[in-house]
Amino acid sequence: MALSSSYSIQSQINPRLLQAVYIGCVKQNPNISAWPWPHFSRIEVACRHCGQGYYWPAFMNALEDLRTHMARPIIIHSAHRCALHNARVGGAPLSQHLKLAVDISLKRHNLRDLARTARGAGFTGFGFYTTFLHLDMGRPRHWFGGLEARTLWQTYLD
Ligand SMILES: [Zn+2]
Repeated sequence: MALSSSYSIQSQINPRLLQAVYIGCVKQNPNISAWPWPHFSRIEVACRHCGQGYYWPAFMNALEDLRTHMARPIIIHSAHRCALHNARVGGAPLSQHLKLAVDISLKRHNLRDLARTARGAGFTGFGFYTTFLHLDMGRPRHWFGGLEARTLWQTYLD
């Protein structure tokens, strides 16, 4: 599939009309909406516990953009979480994971490139950890998952 055709589809999406739209369980409604993001499946960004999905085209556009510019796989550890799963894993009560956020593996990525490219793709929230990078499109902010993570990332951040 030509990537350019996928991107032309994405450019037709009006982000003001398609804000974060909750679509319920992805497993029950696999064809509820268009899915023009070739590098990611619905299941990869659905709740790991129940398969519930969260349809947010602008977020998926940013994720696809990140994948294209990094030119290597983006492995997602955790993405959307239903309220029950978020509570079970000790997520913040107002976690962006309740909408859509991704924790992506650092393996085989240059950390400086990854952080810069994610910012350029439109992500605004950054959680820096030793094994993964949290990305969301919530209030602009960043944090470190402990001293070890701060030490790891510090040299790569401007
Ligand atoms: Zn769930």
